[in-house]
Parts: sequence; C-alpha cells; structure tokens
Amino acid sequence: MVDRRSFLKAAAAVGAGGGLVGFSDVFYHMIPFNDRGEHARHRVYGRSDEPEWLLDKATGTHRLNKQFTLRHTVDLQCHSECGLRVKIDQKSGRIQRIIGNPYQANCRANFLNYNMPISATARLPGTVCARGNTGLQTVYDPYRVTVPLKRAGARGENKWKPIPWEQFISEIVEGGKIFADTTDAKSKDLDVMGFRGLHARRNEPMDPDAPEMGMRTNGLVIQGGRVKSTRRKFQQRFAHAFGTINEFEHTNVCEISHHIATDIVYPHKHVVKPDIRGAEFMLFWGTSPGDANFPMQTVAKYVAEARANGARYVVIDPVCQRGGVVGDYAEWVPVRPGSDGALAMAMIRWIIENNRYNADYLSYPSQSAAERAGELSHTDASFLVITESGHAREGAYLSPEEAGLEAGGDEEGHVVLDANSGRPGLAAKVGKARHDYAGTVNGIAVKSSFRLLKESAVSHSLEGYAQICGVSVDKIADLAREFTAHGRRAGSEFYRGPVKHPNGFYNGFALHMLNVLIGNMNWKGGITAGGGKYDPMTGRYDLKTVPGMSKPKGVRINREGVHYEDSSEYKRRKAKGQNPYPAQRPWFPHTFNVYSELLPSIMAGYPYKADILVWHMATPFYSVPGQHNKEMIDKIKDPANISLIIASDIVIGDTSMYADYIMPDTTFMERWVQIGMHETTMTKGTSVRWPVIEPLTQKTADGRHFSYETFLIDIAEALGLPGFGKQAIPDRNGKLWPLHSREDYYLKSTANVAYAGGKAVSAISDEDKAVSDLETFKSQFADALPAEEWPRVLTVLSRGGRFEPLDKLYDGDKLGHKYTRRLTLYSEEIALSRNAITGEHFPGVPTWVEPATIAGKPLSELDPREQWPLTILTYKGSIQTHSRLSSNTILREIQPENWIEVNRLTALKLGLKDGDHAWVETPHGRRKGRVKLREGVLPDVITFSVGYGHWGYGATALDIGGKRLKADKIRSAGIHLNPIMRRDPAVWQMTLMDPVGGSVTFYQTRAKLIPV
Ligand code: SF4
Repeated sequence: MVDRRSFLKAAAAVGAGGGLVGFSDVFYHMIPFNDRGEHARHRVYGRSDEPEWLLDKATGTHRLNKQFTLRHTVDLQCHSECGLRVKIDQKSGRIQRIIGNPYQANCRANFLNYNMPISATARLPGTVCARGNTGLQTVYDPYRVTVPLKRAGARGENKWKPIPWEQFISEIVEGGKIFADTTDAKSKDLDVMGFRGLHARRNEPMDPDAPEMGMRTNGLVIQGGRVKSTRRKFQQRFAHAFGTINEFEHTNVCEISHHIATDIVYPHKHVVKPDIRGAEFMLFWGTSPGDANFPMQTVAKYVAEARANGARYVVIDPVCQRGGVVGDYAEWVPVRPGSDGALAMAMIRWIIENNRYNADYLSYPSQSAAERAGELSHTDASFLVITESGHAREGAYLSPEEAGLEAGGDEEGHVVLDANSGRPGLAAKVGKARHDYAGTVNGIAVKSSFRLLKESAVSHSLEGYAQICGVSVDKIADLAREFTAHGRRAGSEFYRGPVKHPNGFYNGFALHMLNVLIGNMNWKGGITAGGGKYDPMTGRYDLKTVPGMSKPKGVRINREGVHYEDSSEYKRRKAKGQNPYPAQRPWFPHTFNVYSELLPSIMAGYPYKADILVWHMATPFYSVPGQHNKEMIDKIKDPANISLIIASDIVIGDTSMYADYIMPDTTFMERWVQIGMHETTMTKGTSVRWPVIEPLTQKTADGRHFSYETFLIDIAEALGLPGFGKQAIPDRNGKLWPLHSREDYYLKSTANVAYAGGKAVSAISDEDKAVSDLETFKSQFADALPAEEWPRVLTVLSRGGRFEPLDKLYDGDKLGHKYTRRLTLYSEEIALSRNAITGEHFPGVPTWVEPATIAGKPLSELDPREQWPLTILTYKGSIQTHSRLSSNTILREIQPENWIEVNRLTALKLGLKDGDHAWVETPHGRRKGRVKLREGVLPDVITFSVGYGHWGYGATALDIGGKRLKADKIRSAGIHLNPIMRRDPAVWQMTLMDPVGGSVTFYQTRAKLIPV
C-alpha cells in the first residue's frame, strides 16, 4: 500500500496533460497544521500568513499587499450562501484565507454600501462561521477527483481507472459494450444504451397504454443534490433539450414539507421568516438559532442582537442544542418528536377561545380592502367553503353561481358574507366580511375558512393536546398568551424539526397559522417574505427560452406534481369496477423534488423503467433514511436494473462509489451560480459565486476545465441538442450567442444581474479591478460578452453579487419589502385531493394528524414503545453540513467524532457512562457508537449529528489505476444512523413519508440502546 501523497504523485506522472489520464495531480498536504513540523517563520507570529492589507501610517488608508488578490464569492459549506472574501496568493494561485464579504447582508448586520471601494473596507470585515472558514480544505481535499474515472471492476467494488475526457464522453454518448474492459462478469457483455441511443427514441411513447407518461427520453433521470438557482437552470436546460422531465434536486430529504406548508399559506413563497431584529417575541420550532437555519451565522447574530435589545424567544424542540438557548431571554420547551402540530393547534384553540386573535384583520377579504383599513396583507378567513355532506363539490369554495351571484370580482370569484348586510358578495367587492360563519347560502351548507380552522382546533381538548405533545396546559396557555401580547411584533418560525415526519405538512400548516392569527405579515418585528432578487435569467439575455426547443411532458418517475386519479392506471381499474386504491406506490400531487423515491421507483420500474441515471452532488445512500440497505445496494450493483450510472462529484463519495463513471466536478470556489438572498436579511440581492481560483480539474483539449457544465455541454453538442453549441442564447436584440463553455452562460446571467431592472450598477474602478485581478479573469473569457458590458459585470464579480442599500430594510413600522398575495387558512387544493394508497381525502385546514404509515397505520402501533423505547433524532451541528465536510480536518480537530447523545437518566438506567460504547438497534439493523450523556435531551429520545460515519468520501481504501489509495480513518469516525432508519412496510423500499408535503421522515424511527 502506498500513502496518498506518493500515490498521487505517481498518478500525476502517468497522467499529466490536458484531458488525459491521471487521478489527481494537484493536491495539498492536508496533515493538520499542528503535525506539520515546519519551522516557524517568525518567533511571535509563527507561520501565520502575511496580512492582505498594508496600512499607510501617514494617510491612515490601506492598500493591498501585492502578494495577494482578494475576491468576493459565495460559500457552499452549507446552504446559507454567505458571501466570502477569499485571499489568494498571487504566485501559487492558492487560497490562503477565507473571511466574510462585508457587502453581503449575511456577513455583516450593517452591510456596507455597494459603491464603497474595496480598500476602504479593510477595517470593516464580514464574518463567516467555522465551516465557512475551513472551506479551502474542501477545495484542496487530497481525495479530489480531477479526471474522469471509470469503474474497473463491479459497481461498488472501489476499483477505478482514469480515462481521457474524450473517451468518457464518447462511451456514455455512443454506448455499446463499454464495460467489456472491466473485470465484472455481469458487465462484460452488457449492451449499454448511451445518450445517443436513448435520444433517438424521443418520439416513442414510454408506455403506449399510459400516454401521460411521456416519451422514452424520460428514461434519463438526473438526481441532483445541492444544485440551486442558475446551476439548476443549467441542468434543466440540458434535461429539457434532451427530452426528459426527470430532473431533480434533493429537497425532500431537506425540508420540502416546510416549503409546501409555506407555499399553501403564503402562495408562491417557499420560505418566510421573522424579522428577528425587530421582534419582541419569537417561537423557534425545531430549529436552534446558532446551530442551523438560513443563513445560520446571520440568524445567530440577529438573535444575539434581538436578545440584547430585550426580545425574548422560545426554542420548541425535543433537544436543546448548544447555540439555541442562551441567557435570561431564551427558553427551551421540550416537545415530543412530531407533536409540534398538537402544541400549535392547542395554542390556536386557546388564542381563539380567549379572543386573542386579530379578528379585524381576518375580516378583510381583499388586499385593497385591507389596505384601506391600514392593514398590510389579507387572508381567506371569510371565504365560504361548501360543507354540505354529499354535495358534488363538497370541500370546494362556494362559487358565485352557487351563491346566486354574478361571476366577477377576483379571478377565482370567491364568495364571502358582507359583515354589514349579512348578504353574500364577491370577496373582491366586499369591504369587510364575516370571518366566523357557519350556515347556508342559497340553500347550500357552508362554513367560512376561519370557522373550519376553529372547529379543527377545538376537536381536541387542551388536556388532550397536552398529553400528545408533552407540554402542560399551563405552559400552552403561557406560550399562547405571550405570543399574542406583542401586537404584530411576534413571529412563529420553523425549519426541519417539525416537518420531517409523516404529519410534517400539517405541523407546518399549524405553525404558520399562529402568524396569520395575529396579522404580522409585512410589519416590523413580524413576518417577512424577503427582499427579492435581481433576476439572472432575463434582461440582457434570455436564458429561459431555448430556440427550437419544446419542453418535455409526462409523469415524473417519482410521480410528483400529479394526481393518481388522472392516471391511466387509476382509470383502467375504475373502468373494470375495481377499487383503484392502493396505487402501487404513492403519488405526490402537492410537492416536488421527491428525491428519496427516485432509486426505489427506478428499481421497481414504477411507473416506468429508467435507462440512464446521473447523480450530481447526490448521495441518496448517505442521506435518505433507510436507503443504504443490502437489498437496495444489491439492486443498484446489478447493471441489469439500470445499465448506465454517471456521478458528477468532487470525490468518490458514499453514493458515487456505486457509479460506472465519475465525472470530476468543480468545488464552490471553482464554479458559478447566481442566487437570491435568503428572506432573513429582508433586502434585495443576488449573490454571485464564480471561479475565484483556477479549477483543479484538468481541461478538455480546447481548454475548458472539466465540470458538470462541461459534461452536459459536450453531450448536448455531440447530440446536436437545441440551446447548446453555436446559436444558443438570444440577447435582447435577437442575436444568438454560442454556448460552448460554462462562462458563455454564467457571464450572461451575471450581465442580467448587473443590468437588472433597467438600472445598471456602476462600472468598476481601476483600483477595485486590480484588487480582485479582474483584468486577468476577463482576458480568459473576453468573447463571452460585448466589451461595453464587461465593466459592469466586473463590478458585480468584484462584490460577489449585487445588493441594494441597507436603508431599504424598513419603511417606518413596516417592512421595506411587502408580500401582497392572499394568505390561506383553508386549502381547497389539498382538501379535494386524496392519498393514493388509502384513497382518503386530506384535510384542508391545519389540524392535528397522528404520525402514521402511508397506509394510515399509526406509528405507535408499528413499533411499540415497550419494544422500542427510544426515538432517534438527527441534527446538523454548527461545524458540520449534512453529508459533506469530512475533508475539513480543522473541523474534525474540533470534533473528531459524533456521539449517541442520550439523556443522563436514561443512560444511567442502562448502566451507561459518558464515552461508553453502545448499540443503537432499530427494526432495520444496528450500529455501534459512543454515548454522550446530556441533560437537554428528552428521556425517550437519542440524537446524533449528521456528517460522520462515512464509508465513501475517502473513508474506504480505493484502487485507482491498479494503485491502492489508503483510507482516511477520521472520515469514517463516529456513527451514522440514517441507513437503519425506518422504512414504510406498506411500500417496497420507501422511507416513512409525508404524503402531502413529500418529506422523508428523519425523526420517527423507534430504537433501543444496548450497552456493548
Ligand atoms: S453559515 Fe457558515 S458554512 Fe454556511 S454559508 Fe455561512 S459561512 Fe458558510
């Protein structure tokens, strides 16, 4: 066995040269700094870096140390997308240091004026968190893949060989017996359909008996992980040009039920946030400010500021995290896992029964009526819903015709009862309406949305709710009283904790309803929908339209966004007089990015089979609860189930190790994206991530670095797909620009940002251009933009984006940016839909729903408490980001491993001491780890931080080109329990899921702890 360094040197010697072989010829010795044994350069400062700024004592101004370049870009060590200031050594081109971008709101509460010269910011730095700070270790990971790798043995055998880029593209495009050169008997004679073969079948239906499935090209499935905004649009551009509808990112393992609950209450918004710094009181459900949430470091700073100003907040969570509850102004209220909705419904009941809600606000049925009364938003509280049992449209909003009115008013023609006359009228025309009504209109039994919410809330007693959630009736009343004691300056906020359950959507729906009841939208200290963004997709260039392309159609392979009742399968069964329920697997009409269902659906061939699978930044085996199990691994290893799998990754990861090819992608310091600011910061902005260093990946023969985009472009050009190649991107004058390199695309999206809204940023100054060495950058891609656009595009790059001034934050006691769509108490769309397994309708208002399997079996009956006394919870600590960062050895020095965190009393009962080893056993297997005894964990809960316990990502030894690459033990340290999390017994290989929101379930696996 050779060590990493010797191996890499040897590989480099074999494989130097543009686009040719070699695994990684560029690397950085990653021995932790305290082990390097290098001589100190200075007796006081040791080996610390030279400063980037030099002070001119005479003038008090700073100038850049000529050894360095400073560039602003965007982090991806987590999804907070904080701005970065990257210090780059001029000579080596290597990153030396990362701090925050002071122009960007995440990194500095009072972020700096966009037009301030960079040199003037020397004393005004921005912040990043520990993860952000160590990001260079992600870039210089010695396990980086820099050339294409092809499996040399069977799938998952960890035997690879480097191949030239041209061979890689040719093999995957042309297909054939491309695995004849492997040692795997199953693959030798496999005739693989490549991209060309599949594309040639673009006019054949996927299933002639089910035309709604679309064309055969839907057999290409792209399972993306963290692929956002313009990079996602690029992925979509390729997918749609190829003809597949099956292009995804990862959100259902993240927080999709949160997005869906938000989108229902606040249409077209997936995230709303409290105005933390303006609030007097906040509820944080299942998220701990200082540990997670978006943007993590910013929420932490805002909460600290709010606390200092006297604001109080309560963290409601089964676990009290490190950063969450600090000082006298913060409180932890433990709640049983998944019962947040019961606590919220109890609070709603108390608030309504004690008349602590804003009845006046709820009675305005349109935005214009609300604004006339001095309100800032409006709701559907007064809209009438048909509740007559057996009525053909039971559950739908009463229509004007049914109410005996002429149609008109708002576009949907909602009906309300006029508060003064008591007569029905159109919502758009009535000034004030009855929000709490049950009766008949035109002979039809109806109830107002608010009445339906009220009835739902009183369907359990406060004592009943208390028993479910484990919070006393007195505490429920205290929380509700305090929440309603601050006018509009209170907020209810949540993240993953309440929604990663089978009842996640309804938990989220209830938590949002607390905000609706006090009417806090758009008010200072209330709820914000954010400041918006500068659109990167339109303006100077139309990146949305692809000339000559028609968007593919069909049912996605995971059946998201479609009602089962519209399928041929359902209609056939109905026509035969059969019960159409259950469907073979669930359908998810209300949600999207149902990532966890991709592999099981592909393997089950339901509703159809797939031919080619692309993983991009995707690691379902590490992340999806219960998916890394022997049966599923055996399925994926068998090429008969899917003959071509390509992974786009920066390393050989826990999932990409099962691919046929690994496409070497760029890291966040070497790639592009334009992405809007998170809602938390409340001002308008688009951050721009761009290649601030030369990518470590090698290059194609014509000089383009290997990256996900280069890969998609080269396939597209080989097939002659529209939207790529010579005439691809229309500008505002109709001229078509080429798309042959990623810069051809992303420089144009940056130009759109620079010129957005008809008001361009100013042209870059010579001084700023020099600080960020932008002339060198421009010279590499000069042809991608007309000369006159460059000075403004460089301004955007020099600032790491475009950001509006801080003074847009507030407008007196209101927020500067307002959301004016109607807020929803009752969702007709949800109420009229059904669970495809049980055939039952979903409730249309917030309600307490007991966690159950998809077939309706309560989880309390599935794995009884007597046998499985504990519930596993997972969390993301402030120095880890889900599946990645195991290469960041500085973080690993802070916390080398994770633990099974358990309540002290529970542990003592089992005879466990701090540091003892124990097995965590679930119905799907067991894992061994070390226990950590804590007070802030409910007694029947155990929890662990994700990010540890890897088997890929450098944790396992690899054979590359016949050479052995040793494993890095620190990457496998700790425990990872996702693989033994609960699957749903009703559906093959499906994790427990939320049928409405579409989330996987991370917090409902029952377990026992067995001392070793
Ligand atoms: S919170 Fe930390 S890791 Fe996440 S983007 Fe910001 S600086 Fe990076």
